[in-house]
Amino acid sequence: MNGGELESIYLDYNATSTVKPEVIEAIAEALAIIGNPSSVHHFGRGAREAVEQARDHVAAMTGARPDEVVFTAGGTEANNLALAGADRKRLIVSAIEHPSVLRAAEALAAPSRIGARDLTVLPVNGDGVVSVEALDQALGADARDALVSIMLANNETGVIQPIAKITNRARERGALVHCDAVQAPGRLAFDFASLGVDMLSLSAHKFGGPKGVGALIVRNGIVLDPIIIGGGQERNRRPGTENVPGIVGFGRAAQLAADDVQRAPHVAAMRDRAEQTLRTIEPKIRIFGAGAERLPNTTCLTMPGVQSEMQVMGLDLTGVAVSAGSACSSGKVEPSHVLRAHGISDAETGCAIRISFGWASSEEDVDKLVGAWRAFYAGLKPRYTKGVSQLSEGGARIER
Ligand code: PLP
Repeated sequence: MNGGELESIYLDYNATSTVKPEVIEAIAEALAIIGNPSSVHHFGRGAREAVEQARDHVAAMTGARPDEVVFTAGGTEANNLALAGADRKRLIVSAIEHPSVLRAAEALAAPSRIGARDLTVLPVNGDGVVSVEALDQALGADARDALVSIMLANNETGVIQPIAKITNRARERGALVHCDAVQAPGRLAFDFASLGVDMLSLSAHKFGGPKGVGALIVRNGIVLDPIIIGGGQERNRRPGTENVPGIVGFGRAAQLAADDVQRAPHVAAMRDRAEQTLRTIEPKIRIFGAGAERLPNTTCLTMPGVQSEMQVMGLDLTGVAVSAGSACSSGKVEPSHVLRAHGISDAETGCAIRISFGWASSEEDVDKLVGAWRAFYAGLKPRYTKGVSQLSEGGARIER
């Protein structure tokens, strides 16, 4: 596995996936493409062809039409474009959205902003599923001035949201619907048309593609203003010379994603075995979202009383890479807003870790995770059971 000196295993695919060899190969070839896709000479046409081929692959993976694919520099930009680009006065988002939706919505609703939007944040139940009743209330009888943005699956817990139901209710009353589907490709079969959403965000690096490239799928006929100003690329929706190697890598990863979806039941079985075995080691472990439909690759759990950072560091020392809460905040571990929204105390969310499997994960990885966990826990247990409140390493606290 790349990145570490010891024989490490990588179980942090929801933060970013390892890049597939076929994707690396495609990117390497694309780096040699000379032209600018907007140039009319044959160099330019070659680059354009590579971009359009990738667009076809992304569209095919998503069940969208190629002309509905707007390439962006990743999921964050796609989410920002959806929220800021659609001309809707009211924004309705859920409390468990990724910061690129939640924070963007808050910024658009800041009172100091000219044309500030009205923002409603919907609660979730104890399993992390968005409340459809609260959505009904927020929509009101006429929602032609509203944009609803709900994710397909949560990055921290893997909990899948009832998007088709949400879409029916929202569109019935005239609202636009955006869906952050960044965690779906390769994990879940989904289809843009049958979800019924108007816009959908993707990011290549979550399923074997490169970082820094993604797309917003925009249903034909939806009016969307660009959020950055420049040329007319991407049908006037996203200016800037296209990231040809990134887009080609994204396209290749999209072509390969169906294989991963086929393997999803096997990944779910590995995840379930990991959860069951960890529970036999420590029955107090709590698994978040366990009562809901979840992505097959994700488990978010707490080991009560042991801080997340300590677990992540302890496992890392034995060569197992997992994550504490959301990985998007540059190594800063704060209580997870997602778990808070589940109604879980900060003390407990502070002890949560996320394990996420991916296309290269194997049964041996599960064995290694369980072994590392057992060793970590065995080292901890004497102090843990004696009720020691302070550990020497890194000052991490044990709360009873
Ligand atoms: N949305 C979700 C659900 C995510 O998990 C992430 C990344 O962590 C993003 C959006 C942001 O995507 P990107 O890293 O491509 O900006």
